[in-house]
Formats: sequence, structure tokens, C-alpha cells
Amino acid sequence: MPERLGPPRDTPLFERVTLIGLGLIGSSIARAARHLNLARTIVAVDASEAVVERVKELGIADEATTDVVAGVRDADLVILCVPVGVCGTVAEAMRSGLKPGCIVSDVGSVKASVIAQVQPHLPEGVSFVPAHPVAGTEHSGPDAGFVTLFHNRWCILTPPDGTDEAAVARVRAFWEAMGSNVEVMSAQHHDLVLAITSHVPHLIAYNIVGTAADLETVTQGEVIKFSAGGFRDFTRIAASDPTMWRDVFLHNREAVLEMLGRLNEDIALLARAIRWGEGDKLFDLFTRTRAIRRGIISSGQETPEPDFGRRREDKA
Ligand code: NAP
Repeated sequence: MPERLGPPRDTPLFERVTLIGLGLIGSSIARAARHLNLARTIVAVDASEAVVERVKELGIADEATTDVVAGVRDADLVILCVPVGVCGTVAEAMRSGLKPGCIVSDVGSVKASVIAQVQPHLPEGVSFVPAHPVAGTEHSGPDAGFVTLFHNRWCILTPPDGTDEAAVARVRAFWEAMGSNVEVMSAQHHDLVLAITSHVPHLIAYNIVGTAADLETVTQGEVIKFSAGGFRDFTRIAASDPTMWRDVFLHNREAVLEMLGRLNEDIALLARAIRWGEGDKLFDLFTRTRAIRRGIISSGQETPEPDFGRRREDKA
């Protein structure tokens, strides 16, 4: 086991944990929960037969099925790890299998919409503690997951008013055990913060890579050949899962549009500074942005290595 995760627990935090959707995030939770002994039994549920078969081959869960009602039966903790757009459908489908006292959580990148979709389907006696691990890569599927994905990353909990405090504490303990730092905030605030730190940057990356692909005066070959000039870093983000990101934009519409409005204004100012040769304005902005990058590195959210600081040896 990677040393920085620490030793497995003597006693599990939960008896039975069901993960629905065994892609990058679900399979990383399964790997971490297994390595750290966070659940006596880990159950994997996925709509795809192929994913269920792969989970069995990888041996990252004790049970694996496509049957969502059977999969959540007797679970103490159920975590939805599916694209944001299907959370309501999955909640409705699993409803009859949930036992009283069960905690339902999720990992969706958007929170207000997921709460609105899921909460109406949960029976009395079931708590809902929405969560968003701010950790990921551009890869998807059960092979993409790894045991240290959440280590030293933030996980944001957005419990709606009136959520059982004990349930929130248990979900917090689960994420902290996987090495995450946990913060609690409202779903609305989460969606605004993530719009500028994650959603709009992804939109910019999708846009710039799309624009480059459509250029007529520069060949595709040249775009690829000279990509190390900055474009390459955008292509990593623009390779992220199309289903996941389509859902993020459709389900965080207001906050993304608000931030895009601000961005458009600021880009107009930059264009003006370039047109009129206002070098001081450009220099001041670039100095401020460099300080932000240094702040991210010193807070441990990134390493200073030039190639995005990704550590591949941690894959497990
Ligand atoms: P992923 O790798 O594509 O995995 C999603 C899995 O869910 C796939 O196996 C998919 O099967 C399955 N699935 C889809 N619809 C389903 C349904 N109705 N019932 C059961 N299983 C279903 O995606 P991911 O990156 O792990 O993302 C999962 C969630 O985590 C999303 O809500 C995303 O917003 C959130 N998140 C992602 C990241 C990131 O960087 N990737 C970071 C933080 C949070 P098929 O492949 O057959 O569709």
C-alpha cells in the first residue's frame, strides 16, 4: 500500500458500503475503502454489464451486480458515483431497497441539482449527505481509479438544512480516512465556487481545443507538433469524459453563465490592453496570476514539476 495512506483500520467504519457507478471515482473509493478497511463488505453496482465484469476481474469489491435494488439492500452507506444527470433516476430506482438508518451520499461535481433530484426519492429514516471530492483525472472507467486519488485533496460536504448531524459526521470520517480534508458549505456556494475553479476552466479548455481543431490556416499536424507551447495542457483537460461534463454544464447553468459573463468582460479588457499596447496592465495581471499558482503549490494541491506534477507511480 502507498505509505502516505497510512495503515488499515482494525475495525471498519461501515458494515456494508454500496457504490453505484464504478468509474474513476467509484472504483477509486472501492480501492481506498478496501485498502484501508473502511467497510466490511463493499458492493459495486453499475448499469453496464461490462463494468460489473471488469470490477470482478479487478477484485476491488466483494459483490458486483447490475441490480440496483439488490445492490443497496442492507447497505449502511450508499454512494452515487454516476454522472450528475442520472442521480435522480438512480435514486428513484434504488428507493425500495434502502433500509431505515441508511446514509445516502454522492460524489457529483454539482450539488444543488443533485439534492433537488435525489432528496424527493429518499424514504423516511434515510439521511442524505451530498459530497464532492475535488479530485480527479481526465480518465474514466473502472481501470482509471487509484487508491490515493483522494489523498490530500478537499472533499466538500453540502448537507441540506436539517440533515442528521451524526450522518454528516460518519460521511466526514469516511472521507478523512481516505486522506481527504473535509469542508462543509451550502450547495449554492459550492456550485458558485466550483463554477470558477473547475467548470469554466473545463469549458475554456474544450473551447480552445475545438477552435484549434477548426482552424484553416494552421494544420492539425502543426497544432500537435508544437503543442508544448501551452496548448498541450489544455488538451489534457479537454480529454475529460464528455457525458460527465455535459451534465455538469446543464446542471450548474446559472453559476457557469454568471462566471462566463465576468470572464467575457475581463477578456475584453485584455484585448483592449493588447490593442493599445498597455504593457503595464498585462504585466500586473500576469504577476498576480503567478502568485496564485505559487499559492496552489505551497498549499500542497499541486507539485512544482512542469508536467502538471502528476505522480503516476501512485497508480494501484
Ligand atoms: P465515469 O468514470 O464515467 O464513471 C461513471 C460510471 O457510472 C460508469 O461506469 C457508468 O457506466 C456508470 N453509470 C452511468 N449511468 C449509470 C446508471 N444509471 N446506473 C448505474 N451506473 C451508471 O465517471 P467519474 O469520473 O467516476 O464521475 C462520476 C461522478 O463523479 C460524476 O457525478 C462526476 O461529476 C463526479 N466527479 C468526477 C470527477 C472527475 O474528475 N472525473 C471528480 C469529482 C467528482 P457507463 O460507462 O456504462 O455509462
